[in-house]
Amino acid sequence: MSKRYSALALAVEGLRGHSGWRPVWRCPRPQPAYDAVIIGGGGHGLAAAYYLAKLHGVRRVAVLEKGWLGGGNTGRNTTVVRSNYFYPESVALYDLALRLYEGLSRDLNYNIMLSQRGIINVAHSDAEMEICARLANAMQINGVDAELFGPEQVRRVAPAMNFDPQARYPVFGGVWHKRGGTARHDGVAWGYARAADALGVDIIQNCAVEDFLIEGGVCKGVITAEGTIRAERVGLAAASHSATLAAKAGFELPMRVFTLQAMVSEPVKPVLDTVVLTLGTGTYVSQSDKGECVFGGGIDRVTSFAQRGNPPVHEFVVAGLLDAFPGLGQLKLMRQWAGIVDVVPDSSPLIGPSPVPGLFLDCGWGTGGFKAIPAGGWLLAHLIAKGEHHPISRPFDLDRFARGALIDEAAGSGIAH
Ligand code: FAD
Repeated sequence: MSKRYSALALAVEGLRGHSGWRPVWRCPRPQPAYDAVIIGGGGHGLAAAYYLAKLHGVRRVAVLEKGWLGGGNTGRNTTVVRSNYFYPESVALYDLALRLYEGLSRDLNYNIMLSQRGIINVAHSDAEMEICARLANAMQINGVDAELFGPEQVRRVAPAMNFDPQARYPVFGGVWHKRGGTARHDGVAWGYARAADALGVDIIQNCAVEDFLIEGGVCKGVITAEGTIRAERVGLAAASHSATLAAKAGFELPMRVFTLQAMVSEPVKPVLDTVVLTLGTGTYVSQSDKGECVFGGGIDRVTSFAQRGNPPVHEFVVAGLLDAFPGLGQLKLMRQWAGIVDVVPDSSPLIGPSPVPGLFLDCGWGTGGFKAIPAGGWLLAHLIAKGEHHPISRPFDLDRFARGALIDEAAGSGIAH
């Protein structure tokens, strides 16, 4: 920690009414032209801008965000990071992300509070144990840490669970992924933003992209409320708004938008030092550093752009939590919120060139793209800089729907967050 942020400096700031803080990134006016423009100031857009500047030397870059940085799903998620996926393509993608996360605080010089406390997917029947065995084998073959646990091993990592054999969801065992855990979501967005800004990237908030500048069938920039901005290459990382924007560019994305809810309890003393996901209900929970139990579950059942969430799913998620951890029934629920997630039919992202030359995609992350931010940004930067896929992003090209080469992770690993 630099002297500027020492305890003494904090005290001095307090005494002078916090008037001396300097913004950690600039608020520039948009330039008329850039080498690259990224639409969306969520984690993926900010990471792409950072890696473009840092790894590819492309520094005339702007990130255009219609609201505030991280105001989309990046600032609304439950912060779980992991790479316990089934298909080799997914493992390559999400483990790249986890490996980048492992060095990210140092890389960005910003504490993203990565906590690799382990994640256990809990099975409640012989059939679910088979799913777990299949997943653990696939992960091991693909070089990711995984252990198949029996009930006693689950008890060791999550003793507060309900281990009554008569429970509605009895614990049969599970898959343990030790390198999984949590990271601070705002920290990830702010860390990338500060580091990208320091490399000369213009981060422009309150600047919605309304259309594309297309000349001779090639994307040559974007049209915003602030005027037209020309760019050699454009990256689309606008999550649930990506399909609407794609339609403006004249093509369709296989994507539907659903609400995904999350909740936190009042803070309590340490009760859970891992992430637990129950396969029976899809409810998952971790305890934050403040002591709150942070939990969520599946998506709402109807498509919606309302960032609220509906009571039936809310109730189902709370019931799932209390089935697994009856003791948490004593706690007050402090907050509930929701984000709108960009769900692709095979629950895998869309990364690659779009049908319009000059426009590249990094979207469709659905319920699980926080854990992928470093890799999504890294791969989008590669696409924009080189104009072609990195081998890791190739399987996630839009053309997989024409080729029938889907990567159905929801079916493969039984989980989608
Ligand atoms: P976003 O962070 O949504 O960023 C997209 C940005 O684009 C937004 O800021 C938006 O304002 C901007 N934008 C949209 N339209 C325009 C426009 N026209 N012009 C300019 N800007 C525009 N993932 C995990 O890995 N682990 C989890 O535990 C997890 N839990 C979740 C819990 C909840 C409740 C929710 C909602 C999501 C969760 N996710 C989780 C999913 C994860 O949050 C997202 O997949 C991820 O944040 C996507 O990042 P992004 O940068 O693509 O999108």
